Amino acid sequence: MNTPTRRIGIMAAMPEELQALLDVMPDESMERRAGREFWVGHLHGREVVAVLSRIGKVAAATTTTVLLSSYGVDQVIFTGVAGGLGDGVRVGDVVVADALIQHDMDASPLFPRFELPGLGLAALAPPATLTTAVRDTVEQVLSPASLAAGGALADVHLEALGLSQPRVHQGLIISGDQFIHSAQTSRALTQALPAALAVEMEGAAVAQVCHDFGMPYAVIRTISDRADDDAHIDFPRFIDAVARHYSLAIVEALLRRG
Ligand code: SAH
Repeated sequence: MNTPTRRIGIMAAMPEELQALLDVMPDESMERRAGREFWVGHLHGREVVAVLSRIGKVAAATTTTVLLSSYGVDQVIFTGVAGGLGDGVRVGDVVVADALIQHDMDASPLFPRFELPGLGLAALAPPATLTTAVRDTVEQVLSPASLAAGGALADVHLEALGLSQPRVHQGLIISGDQFIHSAQTSRALTQALPAALAVEMEGAAVAQVCHDFGMPYAVIRTISDRADDDAHIDFPRFIDAVARHYSLAIVEALLRRG
């Protein structure tokens, strides 16, 4: 990792997160490919290509493929929200993936459950050096001192939302084409994959495409709900009040870090 990153791809899962980023990019221009809008510009001295991933594994895989094959990025950062599964993974916390599994991949009995046919493994791991750098950055951005200082996160009012100081977790994120919104389903997922900290709908698909291209990537998810019977209630309010601010502050800190 001695060569500096020349061009970074930022994939956002939510329009609100992408907009927050575009609002601070001074010179972006838009190109449409495969029905997606790719925004090319600069931020904090770095070349950036920003795009909405779209929801679900196939949509996110298509977006990633176009980003990697047409835009010459040499690193991909994915930000979005997810349902918390692991004990102690609360709404408002952030999970940085060090492994990703497609929880709805099941070609058994031909292959073990969760294994990606042809790859011979179930979990894909982003490069450890990038994961560690991203985790350190997220910890700094969300530290009690940074939050108290206001700055980029001045509009996040955790107490008013009933949230406490966010914790940063590193571990397994699982993805599937399902919005998990019942305690019963999330229990079944944690029984099958006990290490899972969070569940969402794109990360492991982005990971598979990046794996095939040999592209370094990181997946960062703010916990918007607990993937239980209240998931649909918590969700929209949380994106507006917290997630888009975290996502922008984290991306800006990563870009500044170089
Ligand atoms: N209300 C949104 C739909 C979001 S779908 C809209 O109208 O556009 C949920 C998105 O958040 C997906 O991108 C998924 O990756 C993530 N997510 C958050 N909580 C989740 C959960 N409990 N289960 C699965 N995905 C979740």
